[in-house]
Parts: sequence; C-alpha cells; structure tokens
Amino acid sequence: MADNHNEGAKFLKSVHQYFDNAAKFSNLAPGILEQIKACNSVYKVSFPIEIDGKIEVVEGIRVQHSHHKLPSKGGIRFSMQVDEDEVKALATLMTFKCAVVDVPFGGAKGGVKINPRTSSVKTLEKVTRRYAAELIKKNLIGPGMDVPAPDYGTGSREMAWIADTYQALKYGETNALGCVTGKPVGQGGIRGRAEATGLGVYFGIREALADRELLEGKNLDGDTMQGKRIIVQGLGNVGYHAAYFCQQDGALIVGIAEREGGIYNENGIDVKEAFKHRSETGSILDFKDSKNIENSLDLLETECDILIPAALENQININNAAKVKAKIIAEGANGPVTQEAEEILLQNGIIILPDLYLNAGGVTVSYFEWLKNLSNVRFGRMGKRAEEASYRRLVNAIETATGKSMNTQEKAMLIHGSDEIDLVRSGLEDTMINAYHEIRETMRKKNISDMRTAAFLTAIEKIGVSYEALGIFP
Ligand code: NAD
Repeated sequence: MADNHNEGAKFLKSVHQYFDNAAKFSNLAPGILEQIKACNSVYKVSFPIEIDGKIEVVEGIRVQHSHHKLPSKGGIRFSMQVDEDEVKALATLMTFKCAVVDVPFGGAKGGVKINPRTSSVKTLEKVTRRYAAELIKKNLIGPGMDVPAPDYGTGSREMAWIADTYQALKYGETNALGCVTGKPVGQGGIRGRAEATGLGVYFGIREALADRELLEGKNLDGDTMQGKRIIVQGLGNVGYHAAYFCQQDGALIVGIAEREGGIYNENGIDVKEAFKHRSETGSILDFKDSKNIENSLDLLETECDILIPAALENQININNAAKVKAKIIAEGANGPVTQEAEEILLQNGIIILPDLYLNAGGVTVSYFEWLKNLSNVRFGRMGKRAEEASYRRLVNAIETATGKSMNTQEKAMLIHGSDEIDLVRSGLEDTMINAYHEIRETMRKKNISDMRTAAFLTAIEKIGVSYEALGIFP
C-alpha cells in the first residue's frame, strides 16, 4: 500500500495538527488527550482473487481508531489510492465526527485497493464478499463491534453483499442486518440514507447562511440560499445531493468539477440534467449552455460564494489556497483542505465549514438505520395511524368550532402521519442544527475564531467525558 503514501501521510498529519490545535483549549489530562488521539487498531488483509482467469492478490485494510464507544463506525473505500495513513486519517475523523453529532459510536474506516470503475461487477462482488469474510472471521465487524458503510467508490450494492456474507456466516443472528449500513431499502436499509450526507451538507450551509454573526463583513447578501453562486467538485453521492438540495432552495450551481474536466455557467447548471448527461455520455464536458473547463482544478480558484469540495482529500493545498476566491468552503469530502492551506484561507477571511461537522449527515442516518435493524421494525410503523387519527380529531374539532370545512388537499396535509422518510429527515435536520449551534457556542466560550478547531474541541470534550466515566484513567 505505497502508491499514495505521500498524500495519505499529508492527510494524517493535517488531521493530527487539527486535533493538536483544538487540544490546546482542553482541560483534559494529557494522558486522556493522548489516548483520544491514538489509533486503537489496524488490521491488514491480502487475499487471492481470480480475475479473468488469473490469480491476483488484493490488499484490504480496516482501521478502528477508537473503541471508547461500540460499535465503531466508518465507510469502506474502493480505490487504487487506498493507503494505510489515509485510512487512519479517515478513521480518526470518524471518531470526532460521531462525537460532534452525538452518534454513540467510535470511529473506523476501511479500504480495498481495487479500481471500481475498471473492475467487472463479478470481480467487485468477489472482492467485497472476501474482504467482508476476512473481517467477519476475526470478529472485526458485527452489529456491536464495527459497522461499515459506503464511502468513495462503494455504495448500497456493496453493502448488500456485505450484509449477505455476514448473514451466511452468522446464520440465525437476529441483529445480523445491523452489521453494515447504507444497504438498499429492500435489504434492511433505511429511506433517506442515499442522500443523507448531501442533505446534511445543505442543512449545514443553510444554518451558516442564517448566522449573521459568522458572516459579518463577508459580503454575502441576505441570509438565505437564494441566488448564492456555488461550485461543486465531484458529482458523486455527496456532491450531487449537496448541489441538488442547495439548488432546490434557490442557489445557482455555477460550476461542476469532475475528474475529466469541468463545466461553468454563470446563470446556473441544472444539476439533475448534468448528472444525467454525465451518466449517458461518460463525461461532464459538452453540457448544454455551459463552458468547458479543461483543467477542473481551475474551478476551485473561480469566483463564487460557496465552494463545495466533495471528491477527495488534499484538493485545496499550499499550491492553490491563496487563489481560492470563494467566501465559504463547505467541506463535503473528508479532508479536502490541508492544514497549511487552511491557515492561508482563514487569513484571507474565508469561512470553512469543516468536514467533521458538515458531512456527518451520512453517519447520522446510518445510526438511524442501525437502530432500525436492531429493533427490526420500520420507523413510523407503530405510530403513523394513531398520529393520523388524533390529527383527524383535531381537524374535525376545528371544522365544528369554525363552522367551515377544509378542502381535501388541506385535510390530507394536516392529517398526514410521519413515515420513515419524514422521521429520518427530521432527525437529520435536528442533528445538523443542534451540532452547528454547539460548535458556535464553543467558539464563543473559548474565544476560538475558526469552526474546525471548535468542532474538534467539542468532540474531544465529549469523548473525554466518556473515558473518565469508564474509569480507564483513575
Ligand atoms: P463517490 O464515489 O460517490 O463520488 C466521488 C466523485 O468525485 C465521483 O463522481 C468522482 O468521479 C469524482 N472525482 C474523483 N476524483 C476527482 C477529481 N480529481 N476532481 C473532481 N472530481 C473527482 O464518493 P462519495 O461517497 O460522494 O464521497 C466523496 C467524498 O465524501 C469522500 O471524501 C468521502 O470520504 C466523503 N464522504 C462520503 C460520505 C457518504 O455518505 N458517501 C459521507 C461522508 C463523507
């Protein structure tokens, strides 16, 4: 696992530096801080897979950064760039991300060195199942142990293969489906998981835009999404949904950067159409009414209100940070800004909505999915009809008292009881809003000027309490 070693090492160094910056503000004992920072376990596997008649050795890794709460939780990445330090950095971020949004899990991450774009579905299935089996046989994943989810290069299909492999090897285990999240709805998944991270990014940006104190002097009119010019890097799961929900709320997506190039249109790009165009033609380029941008990195330096990096880590670094013109950087991806770049961006007055808060929507809804799997019942199933009956009584009472009857549409809207998707979205919105204000409160209390340090500190303090409560450090 050496190809991407420099990038992985840089990423881990940035995450540690972010931790150290925040730890300075904490009163926890140095030993506890050391423990909170340390990576608890790393497990590497190599296994043979037959690909096109040839045996190839595939490498995989699972890192559990923290066991302060169980299970640990974190996605699985499929990429030829997977590297031990990169996975450690991502697992570390997961620990703090879960704490920021009060998801009671430790942090973990996994990776497999395989290119999902050039591998056949058959190969991907073999690799996913074998990687899962390697972890299951060591008891490294399971509903109470460590629960993977999708990440870069994986999705619900891979999660379904993992759940199926787990069920086959742990036949009869009642909570088996809770061994992995991000599954298709028909196979134990939850409605709203696919778009959760992007929707969470939208909620976080919306909260920041309404925060007059944060935006003071930033030259951003109004306090809503309306007319804000957004550039997004990466039109995958996170980037697509984040851009889509912002656009639905009135933002203009003026630029989209992808691996093959980018597109720009100052009047706004229809995100859904652009996604369709890329799926059909294999490229984002040549989209109607938009200008092609040959080097998509140029879009990171293009004038806009909000830049959403939603592809990979280290995208905004020492080489381009000074040229970034966005007013807000909304980190959809994990680690898109290096620590050196952050210093420059903050000096230039750019607001950074940090990954460990902003992209926590995925793990939040994963937590809901895990709860659903443990309880073996769909959210809303027990209460929906009872809720509707009581709303109906209320509507009847209003009609009787006023002597006026409502039309069918009004009645249907008022009487509607909560379905699973309503509950998931409500839980996600509430989580993103609460976490935002907790971070802002830490900024005020500790006189911290940037959101990342405050988010890390908020998380460190919560984790510290749980170590003290466990009595690990008498
Ligand atoms: P994805 O595979 O669905 O999408 C990634 C997109 O980025 C793809 O469209 C890809 O073509 C594009 N891309 C790759 N290299 C690029 C480059 N150099 N320039 C521009 N675009 C490029 O992955 P995802 O799940 O959306 O994850 C993206 C990021 O978000 C990762 O950092 C991941 O760790 C993070 N994240 C994902 C989730 C989730 O729920 N999926 C949750 C939290 C964080």
